[in-house]
Amino acid sequence: MILSIKKYYIIVLLILIAIPAFTQYYESGQDPASLKWKHIHTEHFHIIYPETFLNEGQRLANILEYAYTLVPYTLNHNPKKIPVIVHNYSARSNGFVAWAPKRIELFPVPAADSYPQDELEQLVLHELRHVVQLDKLNQGFSKGLSIVFGEQAVGALSAMLPLWYMEGDAVATETALSLSGRGRLPSFEMELRALSLEQGSVFKYDKAIFGSYKDHTPSYYNLGYQVVASGMKEYGPELWSQSLDKIGKQPYTLNPVNISLKKKSGMTKKKGFMIIVLKIFTIYGKSRISKHYCFRLMP
Ligand SMILES: [Zn+2]
Repeated sequence: MILSIKKYYIIVLLILIAIPAFTQYYESGQDPASLKWKHIHTEHFHIIYPETFLNEGQRLANILEYAYTLVPYTLNHNPKKIPVIVHNYSARSNGFVAWAPKRIELFPVPAADSYPQDELEQLVLHELRHVVQLDKLNQGFSKGLSIVFGEQAVGALSAMLPLWYMEGDAVATETALSLSGRGRLPSFEMELRALSLEQGSVFKYDKAIFGSYKDHTPSYYNLGYQVVASGMKEYGPELWSQSLDKIGKQPYTLNPVNISLKKKSGMTKKKGFMIIVLKIFTIYGKSRISKHYCFRLMP
């Protein structure tokens, strides 16, 4: 009798501590089960989409292949073939690139607060740049790691790249290769301009990266774009290409990004980031209208 009560408690305990188990890194498989899927193989992409997306799916295939000829510029790397999965039965408007299994996932419904850019072109230019960044890491020593650990190796090594670089570089690409892009939006640099007016000095690197509960800090998209674009202008468009090579070939050097950036520009990523933000603040400072001038305009 005592044993059976113990068993009963163990069963209840096991039920209570049960946690869901996932066999794959999927978070976006919420499409209706009734959907019929189609797919197109092109030279560099395997595009998978619901059949209701047929016409747009073919247009997407053309945009992807055209973008493939332009997006690798400055990183000098042509990524291997990758699946592109379209979720047009979602109110989300976004896209992402993930490794293990490697893929691009697109949510192509335009956002309500969108800007004048074709949604598919915008998503392709941005997400394909992430593919180039990540696929370039799979070389040298890292390729050996991929044989042992699979695609997860590249995913893990990407943690060596600062998020502000990854997103800043992708925003710089979408801006350089289109007539729009977030880099051309006044609202995209608004926060940084406001900070330069309010504070007049630069906050610390850690605060810029991790944010603050006390002061407003722009996101790593806004900051990253300004820093990456200005860095490329100052030190050449291929400033970051060698950093990605260094991570791929010698990830065991612990901080390959700093080593290669220092070789190319004489600065670590932290120092370079701070100097560029300071320069941007100086440029904003020169272009601002003084408070006195504003007051004089008032009736
Ligand atoms: Zn991104």
